[in-house]
Amino acid sequence: MRRVSILGATGSIGQNTLDLIRRVPGEFQVVALSGGQNIAQLAADAREMRAELAVTADPARLDDLRSALEGSGIRAAAGEAALIEAATLPADWIMSAIVGVAGLAPGLTALRQGGTLALANKESLVAAGPLMLATAAAHGARILPVDSEHSAIFQALVGEDRAAIERVVITASGGAFRDRPLSDLEHVTVAEASQHPNWDMGQRITIDSASMFNKALEVIEAHEFFGLKPDCIEVLVHPQSTVHALVGFVDGALMAHVGPPDMRHAIGYALNWPDRRALPVARLDLAAIGTLDFAQPDPARYPALDLARQVMATGGHSGAVFNAAKERALDHFIAGHIGFTRMSVLVARTLDEIGGGAAGEITLESVGRWDHLTRQHMDSLVVA
Ligand code: NDP
Ligand code: MG
Repeated sequence: MRRVSILGATGSIGQNTLDLIRRVPGEFQVVALSGGQNIAQLAADAREMRAELAVTADPARLDDLRSALEGSGIRAAAGEAALIEAATLPADWIMSAIVGVAGLAPGLTALRQGGTLALANKESLVAAGPLMLATAAAHGARILPVDSEHSAIFQALVGEDRAAIERVVITASGGAFRDRPLSDLEHVTVAEASQHPNWDMGQRITIDSASMFNKALEVIEAHEFFGLKPDCIEVLVHPQSTVHALVGFVDGALMAHVGPPDMRHAIGYALNWPDRRALPVARLDLAAIGTLDFAQPDPARYPALDLARQVMATGGHSGAVFNAAKERALDHFIAGHIGFTRMSVLVARTLDEIGGGAAGEITLESVGRWDHLTRQHMDSLVVA
């Protein structure tokens, strides 16, 4: 039996991962599960899967978790050190699906086991790409991308010579406000921004899809993970979310990955890799779909995309600064402190003022310092 752990088990990616594991009884032994506030889900899943360890990120919820697990024999723990322990328990395959840069330290710890890290947590590649890749290389670990676009690129590259890549096209649905007049965007609500036209995901990434901060992170993620030059990476708005990404080769061929908007495909691919096995995703009826549309993203509607280019040109710790500024802008938008369009304005200003391009090795500590500095700066701009 393969031993698996899921960091961020109570979230959208975590629950989809458990759905796949549940369908093949006897194939996987669940070792550790982590969550945050959703103690009932975490305890129910830990009991059902007979996990060894259940961790909540929030120490204030440890008593609740202990009571929910009473009599089960499953160990309960809480806080950052416990998340690291969850990533340390021997496992062949670990899903990194915590949201935000909080997923970086557990993900790095998991890589040190030298097994497979299924990486949904794009923030860790944006904030610390070189550190993630170097840690994987030093410990003989493998990172398999779970973000649908990056899984699509990874699949399109099987058997191909990476030197023959000319360009990569990442598609974007356009998010909740694709068709809203630009003048409305200043006043859209959190509830409206939390509705994705095609994908069912956690609230934060859904709002990031409306602003295209998610796509901005994904461009940087592709740059870091596949080692692609920034000008090789293109973004197209594709409202149907059917073509997830395309890889263009020097001979002019474009290999597209086409599938339904269901994360269980990308998760299942990483779970079964290098094999392909049956997955419970809908089969596309292309005749019923009929038409697939593609368009250039409007920079005025999606200013985050230009910021991603700025980050890639700057390098250094600017990815950590960008990610932290984005996370904090989103916190303030969700809390009702700032409007939707203000997020990109404040992130742009913070990138200019904090930068992050200074030379120096990227370590967990250095990323933590830039992250902290950036969040403080963002907060001072919001108060001002
Ligand atoms: P969710 O918000 O649905 O879930 C996040 C998970 O992380 C939950 O288990 C949550 O616990 C836990 N969590 C929240 N805050 C912390 C923290 N500070 N420390 C530790 N754990 C925490 O997110 P998603 O599943 O949507 O996304 C997870 C990651 O996957 C993100 O990096 C996202 O960008 C990426 N991703 C997601 C996709 C999707 O389809 N959802 C697609 C592609 C990438 P709890 O809920 O119990 O509080
Ligand atoms: Mg994606």
